[in-house]
Amino acid sequence: MFRIVGIRLEMHFTFLLLLGYAAWEGWSGVPEAPWLGMAWFVMYVLLAFGCVVLHEFGHALTARRFGVRTRRILLTPIGGMAEFESIPRKPLQEIAIAFAGPAVNFVLVGLILLFVDFPGPHDLLMLSFAPSAIFKQLVAINLVLGCFNLVPVFPMDGGRVLRAALALRLSYLRATQIASWVGKTLAVLAALAMLFVVGNPMGAVLFAFIFYAADREYKMVRQRETEAEFWRQWMERFQAPPPPPPSA
Ligand SMILES: [Zn+2]
Repeated sequence: MFRIVGIRLEMHFTFLLLLGYAAWEGWSGVPEAPWLGMAWFVMYVLLAFGCVVLHEFGHALTARRFGVRTRRILLTPIGGMAEFESIPRKPLQEIAIAFAGPAVNFVLVGLILLFVDFPGPHDLLMLSFAPSAIFKQLVAINLVLGCFNLVPVFPMDGGRVLRAALALRLSYLRATQIASWVGKTLAVLAALAMLFVVGNPMGAVLFAFIFYAADREYKMVRQRETEAEFWRQWMERFQAPPPPPPSA
């Protein structure tokens, strides 16, 4: 889409499906004023994703401090993803980068609460374009984003914190495998709960995405580790010291 402080911001095409879904929900959900409902729902999604973008810049700019460049920030219906050119292999750096995103959301909450009161349930159900109502929505959006991302499940930041914490003791691959198992198990349980307890198929789709992301994260790391191991062995053989000369 465009470039901010040297980082490319891109939108996955399914993001447009989400906007369409929001427009439809607004249109059909507010029969007394369908156009108003539609505009409000679309505005809400755009506001939420504005906060997601700021969250991702929190990761990207922290990563830059450690010398890790961000290839792009990709927006998908389940949120943003900052894609780094390299993965910091220092667990403490990875933890700092992962925490930086939610930290942005909590800082935003703090800043907005200087100007508006803490929102109550009534404020959040109100479809209002008044600035104070919008700021109260922003408080809720940022609280949800900050907390949800700290859940210890890939691809959420909490999953990365979990992996990095495990990697302090285990190999990076093993740490990723365990974090990925935790994520996949929780995603399956949450998707089943969404389908059979809550009755929200969109929620189940979200957790299917999370399952897929957890699986992909592990497979990517495994492939990278296998390649790295291959080259390491190859280099070792190539650089092996010559056999000692036979002693006379
Ligand atoms: Zn994040």
